[in-house]
Amino acid sequence: MNNKKNIFQQIISKKIITNIVYQDNLVTAFNDIKPQSPIHILIIPNIFIKTLNNIKSEHQLLLGRMLLVASKIAKKKKIDKSGYRVVINCNHHGCQTIFYLHMHLLGGRQGINIFF
Ligand code: 5GP
Repeated sequence: MNNKKNIFQQIISKKIITNIVYQDNLVTAFNDIKPQSPIHILIIPNIFIKTLNNIKSEHQLLLGRMLLVASKIAKKKKIDKSGYRVVINCNHHGCQTIFYLHMHLLGGRQGINIFF
């Protein structure tokens, strides 16, 4: 887990080479190493937050920025009209495997409806 936390931190600080698609003062977005759809981008805070359980009111701007950036990237990647999904997994039942808060942006093909 710590290694993976470090991997995300190293991506932010550009200590390891990855395909960063967006970065600002609050968030960084990069391609998922094992994409589940043609567009699969992870959007993460520049500060370490373990899970969605660890967010505080002081993180509201940051969390809003994550959604704003997801929407902007979707437009840039031209998947805004066809549609896309944003997902935050939390802990074991939520299928979180990397314990560094991240939002998935998935698009480029029809997704599976997991609710029905
Ligand atoms: P989770 O299941 O925790 O919501 O998602 C973790 C995601 O991180 C997975 O989609 C996985 O493919 C991705 N991932 C794991 N390690 C790396 C890595 O070293 N680099 C990148 N770019 N993505 C990673």
